[in-house]
Amino acid sequence: MKKMLVTLLSVVLCVSFLTACGDSGAGDVLTVGTNAEFPPFEYLGDDGQPDGFDVALIKAIGEKLGREVVIENLEFDSLVASIGTKIDVAIAAMTVTPERQEMVDFSDSYYEAVQYVIIPADSTIATAADLEGKTIGVQLGTTGDFIASEIPGVTVSSFKKAVDAVNDLINGRVDCVIVDRNPALVFAENFPGQVVSLEGVQFGFEPEYYAIAMPKGDTEMAEQINGALQELIEDGTFDELVATYIEQ
Ligand code: GLN
Repeated sequence: MKKMLVTLLSVVLCVSFLTACGDSGAGDVLTVGTNAEFPPFEYLGDDGQPDGFDVALIKAIGEKLGREVVIENLEFDSLVASIGTKIDVAIAAMTVTPERQEMVDFSDSYYEAVQYVIIPADSTIATAADLEGKTIGVQLGTTGDFIASEIPGVTVSSFKKAVDAVNDLINGRVDCVIVDRNPALVFAENFPGQVVSLEGVQFGFEPEYYAIAMPKGDTEMAEQINGALQELIEDGTFDELVATYIEQ
C-alpha cells in the first residue's frame, strides 16, 4: 500500500512538473520591459499604469498567444541587459542596432522612425553644419545619444528621460535635443511657440526600425511573436492601434 502511494505521488509530481515545463509558454505570464517616458509609444496613463502604442501592441500580442502581459517600467538603458533575467522581452520604441543585436534578437520591425532635432523657436540651427560648437541634449543610451556623440565638435548632455533634455532646452542649458520623430512632435506640442522640431533628413539622419527585443537564440519566442504580429497586421488591429495612439 505504502509503495503504491509513493508511486502514485511520483506520477502526480512528474505530471505537474511536465505541465509546468511545457515549452509553448501558453498560459504563462509574459513579463515585458518598457520605459514609460516616451509618448506616444509608452507613457504612464492617468491611472498611473503604462499605456501607449507599444503597450497596447504587446498586450494584443499576448492575447493572441494566450499569455497575460505584465509590464515592468524600467530605465531605457537597462532594458537590453534585463532580457532573459528580469523580463522576457522589451518593447520601448527600440531601434534595431548591430550593437544591440550582439546581446538580443529582434522581432520583425513594426515601425519606421528617424531622429528629429528640437530647437528653441528663435534658434538659427537648420542643418548639420549648424550643430558645430553646440550642446546637444539626448536620452542616455538611445540612438539619438549615439548619433549626437558622433557629430564632431559638439558637447553631448545626456539624461535618463528625454523629457528632462527638453526641459533643459526650455531652460537654455542645451541648444537642441535629438530624439525620435513622434516623441519630438509630442514634446514640441507641449511647449507651443517656445520650441520647433526639425525633420532629421535636413541633418542627414537615416531611417531607424523599431522592434521587440527578445532573448538571443530563442527561435520559438521569435516565431510566436512574429506570428502574432503578422496576424494583428492582417486582421487590421495594428492599423487601429496606429490610428488610436499615433496618428491623432
Ligand atoms: N529609438 C531610440 C532607441 O532605440 C529611443 C528609444 C527610447 O528612448 N525609448 O535608442
